[in-house]
Amino acid sequence: MAVLLLPAVAGGLPDRALPKRFTKAPFSLMSLTVGHPNAGWQVRAKRLKKSKHLAIKAGSEDNAYGHPALVLMLGRSAKELARAAPGSVLLVGDLSSKHGGSLSGHRSHQSGRDADVGFYALDAAGKPVLPEKFVAFTADGKATDGSGLTFDDRRNWLLVQSWVRDKRAGLSHIFVSRGLRQRMLGYATKQPAFQKYVTEVAALLKQPEDASPHDDHFHVRVSCPKDQSEICREESK
Ligand SMILES: [Zn+2]
Repeated sequence: MAVLLLPAVAGGLPDRALPKRFTKAPFSLMSLTVGHPNAGWQVRAKRLKKSKHLAIKAGSEDNAYGHPALVLMLGRSAKELARAAPGSVLLVGDLSSKHGGSLSGHRSHQSGRDADVGFYALDAAGKPVLPEKFVAFTADGKATDGSGLTFDDRRNWLLVQSWVRDKRAGLSHIFVSRGLRQRMLGYATKQPAFQKYVTEVAALLKQPEDASPHDDHFHVRVSCPKDQSEICREESK
């Protein structure tokens, strides 16, 4: 479709590049995700707001815009984790910029369907910590920065499980490094309470082939909204 070849109109009036029916009600009142994750933009995006359970990483404040399906899912999962493990705060990095389009440091994150989320971590004594930045972990769960932090298997599993179970959002996939993927699946397989979702999580957890290995954050993507399939492209270009 020719319209999707148009570049993002950052800060302009991207509505003009849309098929006519998307410029009228009800679409003219909705948040729209347009194009591919790595060649797209968004209209009337929703801003993710920090809360008691959700922190926005320093530097990502201007890139906290996304489709409501993504933004609301992040809010729900942060709340769910805080309920399961009191005091937990979800650390969220970049989503997309207000109007979408290319975002420095990322290939995708253009159309409001992608978010980077930090791992939950424990200190050397096994106590939950509140990291302010993304920390990389090896497959044996140790932080690579010498901080002594460890990957919190339980809370990180609860997080991906909450995304997978969140049928309102419609998850496309979760990127994470191969080593941490193996670690998480191995952990959950041994926990009777978590076994139920292992197959579903395994299908959605991937290490990207053509991007960084994602050993310091999850990259979560929601699918195109059903009523926007004419303007939203599921896959990268
Ligand atoms: Zn990302």
